[in-house]
Amino acid sequence: MKILLRKVTKTPLDFEVESEETNFKGYLQYHAGNLILLKANLSGFVDTECSQCGQTIKLPLDEELEFFISDGLFDGDERIELDVIESFDSVADLDEILHSELELIKSDYFSCENCQNS
Ligand SMILES: [Zn+2]
Repeated sequence: MKILLRKVTKTPLDFEVESEETNFKGYLQYHAGNLILLKANLSGFVDTECSQCGQTIKLPLDEELEFFISDGLFDGDERIELDVIESFDSVADLDEILHSELELIKSDYFSCENCQNS
């Protein structure tokens, strides 16, 4: 799902993306300058591996995401408290954002129950 950033206004624009066992739901809202706020909840499950034995772990997800998408190069002078993702094609690619968030979560270390108990 792709959303044109210039179509995002002060009125929150709801979106929902589903991928396998995950659900990514939230809204986009114009902030200021060339910044668009993304606020969303990531829920469901993602498969990852035990970092010790390699067994598949089904990881429950419940993440609140909040960051800005910059339409073009971000002018870092603005004082903001959130992370900024730059978009150079004026599009919020929500599938891509979901994918990279999942990869980020999976890059952490996890232990399966067997390894935790031994
Ligand atoms: Zn293990």
